Amino acid sequence: MKTTSRSVQRARRGAVLSDHACPECGTPMKERRGKLRLPVNGEEITVPEATHLICPRCHEVLLRSDDARRLRRGALEIYRAKYGLLSADDIRSIRERLDLTQAELAHLLRLGGNTISRWESARNVQTASMDMLLRMIRDLPGSLDYLRKHAA
Ligand SMILES: [Zn+2]
Repeated sequence: MKTTSRSVQRARRGAVLSDHACPECGTPMKERRGKLRLPVNGEEITVPEATHLICPRCHEVLLRSDDARRLRRGALEIYRAKYGLLSADDIRSIRERLDLTQAELAHLLRLGGNTISRWESARNVQTASMDMLLRMIRDLPGSLDYLRKHAA
């Protein structure tokens, strides 16, 4: 029988909730919104309204995959705002203006191969010092040649 995607989604969500017994003590967990901390670039970032499950008996905290994704997105947003960082789109447009691939820019900045792609898709965020380097490449003529000269 055919079901709409909405009814499937609702059924699944219900099943997920009732399945969540506490892994520590077996008590059914409750959904709550509150402060959770997540490290971003080595710094603990507090997300004020993070949805999660909590055990009413032993206070164990559990993140469903959506909770974890939202927590990560929230923490990256807070980190980006705190340091006034370039956005994912800003980074992409700097790179495209210089006519570099993601791999070429990563190589020039001595970063891992997937780093630029993770910044441009907002799955991760650059450190404040990398942000400054990106601004220098954007604003200082000759800086790209300098990096090329010193690239390994
Ligand atoms: Zn428990």
